Amino acid sequence: MKTIYVDNAATTAMSDCAVNAMKPYFKEVYGNPSSLHTVGQIAKEALDGAREKIAKCLNCEPREIYFTSGGSESDNQAIRSAALNGAKKGKKHIVSTAFEHHAVLHTLKKLEKEGFEVTYLDVHSNGLVSAAEVEAAIRHDTALVTVMYANNEVGTIQPIKEIGEVCRKAGVVFHTDAVQAVGHIPVDVKADNIDMLSLSAHKFHGAKGAGALYVKRGIPLQTFVEGGAQERGKRAGTENLAAIASMAAALEEACANMEKNCGKERILRDKLIDGLLKIPHSKLNGDRKSRLPANVNICFEGIEGESLLLLLDAKGICASSGSACTSGSLDPSHVLLALGLPHEVAHGSLRLSLCESNTEEEIDIILEEVPKAVEYLRSISPVWEELEKGLKPHLI
Ligand SMILES: *Cc1c(COP(=O)(O)O)cnc(C)c1O
Repeated sequence: MKTIYVDNAATTAMSDCAVNAMKPYFKEVYGNPSSLHTVGQIAKEALDGAREKIAKCLNCEPREIYFTSGGSESDNQAIRSAALNGAKKGKKHIVSTAFEHHAVLHTLKKLEKEGFEVTYLDVHSNGLVSAAEVEAAIRHDTALVTVMYANNEVGTIQPIKEIGEVCRKAGVVFHTDAVQAVGHIPVDVKADNIDMLSLSAHKFHGAKGAGALYVKRGIPLQTFVEGGAQERGKRAGTENLAAIASMAAALEEACANMEKNCGKERILRDKLIDGLLKIPHSKLNGDRKSRLPANVNICFEGIEGESLLLLLDAKGICASSGSACTSGSLDPSHVLLALGLPHEVAHGSLRLSLCESNTEEEIDIILEEVPKAVEYLRSISPVWEELEKGLKPHLI
């Protein structure tokens, strides 16, 4: 049985170009970029080259890019750094949203315990927040606004440029977790008025364990990994050069092919959405227009998303229900709850995140298997029986 992988929001397969970009750094170019000798300096040049490529893709200066171990670390450092900078000026208020990734939310929860106050903006039922609401939430003591570029579960693309504008006007630092956006849709830190941005290589066909944090020149960055002077003294530790090289190559490739890939993904995505919504009592989560080209997220009433995943897995279809980080726990996804979905409905969600190498044949198989699985699960569901007998009202 062939595997149909539609969980690219969790992680992606590495591209050939990313794998090839890594290879020289295992045995040929093995130097430490901090070493002054030739072997080290060759590694240093490669590191600089990767930084330049990534900066070019984001429209910033190479010196504004700091390499990290991935999206989580970038989020942690950006938020903690801005909080610390704010606290020094007596600013201990942060604005964010209820549907951020846990790398952001858990950092904010910790900061609350440390005496910061956080306003979590409500997300509209279409999965969008508005710049006007961000503006209204900003106070004289606001140190940071952090709003994700695109949501990892429902795929909604936020009005980042407008939010950035509001923050600039108010003189508040603006961070965005752009892990789902970079390499997938155009991201330009200048045009989008972004001060700090997190990205992660493994979400766009690069290696796992490499990421970057963009920090606009002039914004002080606090250090949390102490040690050597790597990354201009802001993040110690010998650089993961092989993974960083793969990240740069993968991003360059993703940006060069973005229009083509997006076009292909949109066609597959729309076919999936239209096909799956033919299942009775189903609902698309997240705005249909302001949506990542590769994201499908649908709820089916009367079933458990986890059971659906297992049935699909048995057919070779690898999908997700909510976020990979929450699977295994019984709580429904905090993202779907933030959109205002009732618990019962949120439990029955399915996320299919595509990539440019998915095929129409794969989509056809999914469109054949999902309705069968939903029908089977409903046939054995006591909840569905109650709904069908009219003992409970349908919610969708
Ligand atoms: C995957 C993801 C992260 C975490 O990135 P890692 O590189 O896995 O640490 C953070 N934010 C979002 C939106 C993500 O999708």
